[in-house]
Amino acid sequence: MNPVVVLGFDAAAPGLIRDWALPAFARLRADGVTTSTRNPPGLYVGAVWPSLITGTSPSRHGRWCYDQFVPGTYGVRRMTAEDYQVAPFWMALDRAGKRVAIVDVPKSPIRALGHGLQLADWGTHDPDSLGFRAYPETLARDVQRRYRTEPVGLCDHYGHDREAVQRLCDRLIERTERRTELCLDLLARERWDLFFAVFTESHCAGHQLWWLHDPTHPEHDPALRRALGDPMERVYRALDRSLARLLAALPTEATVLVLASHGMGPHYDGSLLLADMLAAMHVSGARRDAVSTLQRTWHAAPAALRRVVNPLAVRTGLWLGRRRAGAPPGLGSALRTPDPTRMRYFAVPNNDCHGAIRLNVVGREPAGCIQPGRDFDAAIDALGEELSTFVNEDTGRPVVAALHRIETLYPGEPHEALPDVIVDWDRSATIQRVVSTRYGRLARPKVTSRTGDHQPTGLLIARGPGIASGHAIAPIESVDLAPTISSILGLPRPDLDGHPIEAIVAPSTS
Ligand SMILES: [Zn+2]
Ligand SMILES: [Zn+2]
Repeated sequence: MNPVVVLGFDAAAPGLIRDWALPAFARLRADGVTTSTRNPPGLYVGAVWPSLITGTSPSRHGRWCYDQFVPGTYGVRRMTAEDYQVAPFWMALDRAGKRVAIVDVPKSPIRALGHGLQLADWGTHDPDSLGFRAYPETLARDVQRRYRTEPVGLCDHYGHDREAVQRLCDRLIERTERRTELCLDLLARERWDLFFAVFTESHCAGHQLWWLHDPTHPEHDPALRRALGDPMERVYRALDRSLARLLAALPTEATVLVLASHGMGPHYDGSLLLADMLAAMHVSGARRDAVSTLQRTWHAAPAALRRVVNPLAVRTGLWLGRRRAGAPPGLGSALRTPDPTRMRYFAVPNNDCHGAIRLNVVGREPAGCIQPGRDFDAAIDALGEELSTFVNEDTGRPVVAALHRIETLYPGEPHEALPDVIVDWDRSATIQRVVSTRYGRLARPKVTSRTGDHQPTGLLIARGPGIASGHAIAPIESVDLAPTISSILGLPRPDLDGHPIEAIVAPSTS
């Protein structure tokens, strides 16, 4: 059976790989088939790697964000790679006697392997809280000794001044080069049936260096760009050189899959304002109710009482609204204030690209107030109407481009634990200040160093025995990768959610 080698480039933008004509990628494209990959809609930022490595939808593997809402509690919990409900596809290969090497594949759980090795979070973007770990455990010490601790650390902790940018860029390139040596070393140790390694430097570079890459970004600094060039391009070119070195070292009979997991573009979204928008809507609704109650009570109250009670009390709701707008925003904040048990809908964590909303449903939430069925449908319509009143103060355009019900994104799948509604933002400009004729003005302070953020589609290039050269094929789903690799290695997985990609699998099985 011919071996499979997967080389991943985490969150590397397919458009930039093409625009910069990176030579190793271009050569590979000429030698093989190319396709774009579709990642789990609305949830892809946190679900892309779990879906790639388990071959299942987020409704099945259960992981789409670093923090997730816990049904039945109104609370959230931190997720780790050990929380998946489906094992990585390579475990079945290992059980069947295949030799697998899994190197820094993001968001991977570590399991004992009968025939292989695994490294997790030696140097990944947003490493799992479990830290650097390996199977066998002795491999971690060996890697530390030979390749030391990775040189970047958390990429969010660098600044935007000239020295910080240079330092981050140099360290990302250094990590790329060290990782290349590490991969060449591990590749040479055995004849692997599956060697799967991921470079995550593209991910850090995209989040942190987008502002200097993109001349239309509001934080772009033309003088610094002239002085430094495009540091993001430097990182991508280093990755391309690594790809060339690794390709040169691979056995000729290997099927090679090169994957850019999900894309990168400007960090234009309103997710950090969503909790405040929903809070303002809630407070406004509560105020409307409170005002009518107070007015009724007021007119019914004895004249003496009316003289001592300040009528301004009816503006309590407004005051709450002002306080809320000035409170530190962020995902999860709406889970604390206002009290979500009293809200009709509240924000739940889902990274930043898409907002996520849960409805407070009777019988599902402990203090549900929306009946399933017609009430639920009407509540979603009302939610859409209320959110549509918010416009971006800088552009005058509505900030919400579309709302999607989760069952339309994941038809036929269980979605009790998923958010009910996914928010597509108008991502044509940065969303810092929003204003609604009904709910007032909300602004958020700058709370992230990230100027780049994800795009939903990725890229897959496959080269190998029998695979056509220079062809583009129709887009695939990211869950197709696991059954494709399994089929090439002779262990079809009809139990997974994806399907083997004919153009890649068929040549080696015919
Ligand atoms: Zn990211
Ligand atoms: Zn990073």
